[in-house]
Amino acid sequence: MFLKKEKNAQKEEYVIIIGCGRLGSMLANSLSEQKRNVMIIDGNKSSFRKLDSSFGGLSLAGDAADIDILMEADIDKATDVIVVTESDNTNIMVSQIAKEIFGIESVIARLYDTERKCVYEELNINTICPADLSVFEIKRLLDEKE
Ligand code: AMP
Repeated sequence: MFLKKEKNAQKEEYVIIIGCGRLGSMLANSLSEQKRNVMIIDGNKSSFRKLDSSFGGLSLAGDAADIDILMEADIDKATDVIVVTESDNTNIMVSQIAKEIFGIESVIARLYDTERKCVYEELNINTICPADLSVFEIKRLLDEKE
């Protein structure tokens, strides 16, 4: 009976964003505005200046490639992990840790080098590629002109 209850228990939404730079801070501010439960991690404490004064989430300074930091952020309770540092290598490593060690189903990573997309696909990690999104938007603007 107890086991069944555990299995059906739904995790409360808890989004961890890794990287509080241009992208991560905007996303954190936007999710916080929607009253979502957010934790943001950055290796550089000064990056948290990008967070709005109204930011209602948590922040943690540290290297996200360090498992102890991820555990301090309660990654095992996360429903979503979004990895948006400026380094593809860091992003794939942290995404893999989140997926394989902590069993997080929803992992999204920023990827600059679109040629490496297949690696992420194999690992079942969703990617956000700035180049792809830019091409899509530029084409949309060109089409709109016609
Ligand atoms: P941006 O390219 O402006 O979106 O910034 C990327 C952010 O990722 C910067 O604020 C970096 O300090 C942060 N960052 C880079 N590597 C790590 C890491 N290993 N752990 C946590 N944050 C990182």
